[in-house]
Amino acid sequence: MAQEDLFKKIVSHCKEYGFVFPSSEIYDGLGAVYDYGPYGVELKNNIRKYWWDSMTLLHENVVGIDSAVFMHPSIWKASGHVDAFNDPLIDNKDSKKRYRADILIEEYLAKIDGKIQKEIEKAAKRYGDVFNETEYRATNPRVSELQAKRRETHTRFTQALNASNLEELRQIIVDAEILCPLSGTGNWTEVRQFNLMFSTEMGSTSQGAMRVYLRPETAQGIFVNFLNVQKTGRMKIPFGIAQTGKAFRNEIVARQFIFRMREFEQMEMQFFVRPGEEMEWFTRWKSLRMAWHKAMGLGPDKYRYHDHEKLAHYANAATDIEFEMPFGFKEVEGIHSRGDFDLRQHEKYSGKKMQYFDPESGQSYTPCVVETSIGLDRVFLSLIAGAYAEETLGQGETRVVLKLPPALAPVQLAVFPLVKKDGLPGKAEEIRNRLRFDFRCLYDEKDSIGKRYRRQDAIGTPYCITIDHETLNDDRVTIRFRDTMEQERVSVENLPGIIAEKVSLKNLLKKIND
Ligand code: ATP
Repeated sequence: MAQEDLFKKIVSHCKEYGFVFPSSEIYDGLGAVYDYGPYGVELKNNIRKYWWDSMTLLHENVVGIDSAVFMHPSIWKASGHVDAFNDPLIDNKDSKKRYRADILIEEYLAKIDGKIQKEIEKAAKRYGDVFNETEYRATNPRVSELQAKRRETHTRFTQALNASNLEELRQIIVDAEILCPLSGTGNWTEVRQFNLMFSTEMGSTSQGAMRVYLRPETAQGIFVNFLNVQKTGRMKIPFGIAQTGKAFRNEIVARQFIFRMREFEQMEMQFFVRPGEEMEWFTRWKSLRMAWHKAMGLGPDKYRYHDHEKLAHYANAATDIEFEMPFGFKEVEGIHSRGDFDLRQHEKYSGKKMQYFDPESGQSYTPCVVETSIGLDRVFLSLIAGAYAEETLGQGETRVVLKLPPALAPVQLAVFPLVKKDGLPGKAEEIRNRLRFDFRCLYDEKDSIGKRYRRQDAIGTPYCITIDHETLNDDRVTIRFRDTMEQERVSVENLPGIIAEKVSLKNLLKKIND
């Protein structure tokens, strides 16, 4: 299936099955804002719990907080967001459409990569076993030309970004002959900076209201509570503070469904370490976080690291974990070694000491920070995209199935009476009532069993059980497995054991802990 078609299908599947709806739909929607439906909110809650437990259960030196969305406006001055949380924007004069200049160039580079890859795949097919990719890359004129073009643009691009040279960004777009996908022209405006923070007013205007911002990240709530948490929790360095919550950014290029939204949810953890030890912790968290993603079972090839080209002046390392979305490899999580920048800035702006007293050395110092910052909605999208499959079953039948990790599936067990009579619904409800404390159960008695299976496949339910006439005598039910579609007769008594083995969050957590 073409990746573009797959993406369209995922978006409509999410709507049809109650995962994600466009916000304010009856008023024609609100750009880049989405609501989660009944199955969506369950999946989201499960991802959040998986992340939270992986942080706070598996690390006794990581504790959580829940800070407010509104914060003192000076926080955003100290963090640099008021002055420097900008995107470089460019408009096409013919279509009047606005783009992020850096994204236009990144997409252009990705296009060249795609062309190079195609040439290599063609040649590999042609030459078979004797094909030598390194030699081909070095000698084939077409590939060499593409590589040189990529290298040149890429070098200019990183230099322009590092120097915040907006004129040069525009010049790269012009020189590369990048055209507006809508108008097809290269009639571009200048590149301008645009601040991404939403602001509003707190207090009554007549008495002089205060301008406050909707937080563009949850991390600052952690930094400003560093001392509160350290002191009340008697935390010793190294330790981490985790937080999940809404963040808001006035994104301009807001396409790609829930990948880039104006209101989204972050799951962030700031890990405070002794200065000089940050690179060690950066490496450790980098691999722990990759293990978290891979444990979900979508396939190891779906993930890769992407080291940052441009580092903030205070940072000494930064990498993204990218997932192969239907529109290419994209960032899902960032891991950053931020030095002591944040705590020092807050010390400067608040006038309060933000230091740690080390009882072992008897000295005070400003800790360094390693941050892991992940978008919950992007993990959600990666799960749906990676789990979505259309299968042909023979006899002209097909099914759509979401092969979600059983521990995260919105419904873990569906309970069906074979027919709506002869006491089967009563028995089925009795079994459901027994199991509902252990698993997320759903009872369904409408339509044929085949149709009921399809509905559960489409929302990713790993197990269905059917109660039939024999169940009334022998207390055995038919259990049907989502991925293999195999069916087995098992006793009701054994059900919790069979299901728990697969659906417990413990299975995912153990994989990271190994
Ligand atoms: P991008 O380069 O895609 O704009 P970013 O580098 O600005 O992302 P960070 O500031 O590092 O993102 O935020 C951490 C995480 O928050 C990202 O890895 C992503 O998963 C998530 N995130 C950021 N912006 C959005 C958004 N507009 N919608 C959904 N998730 C987002």
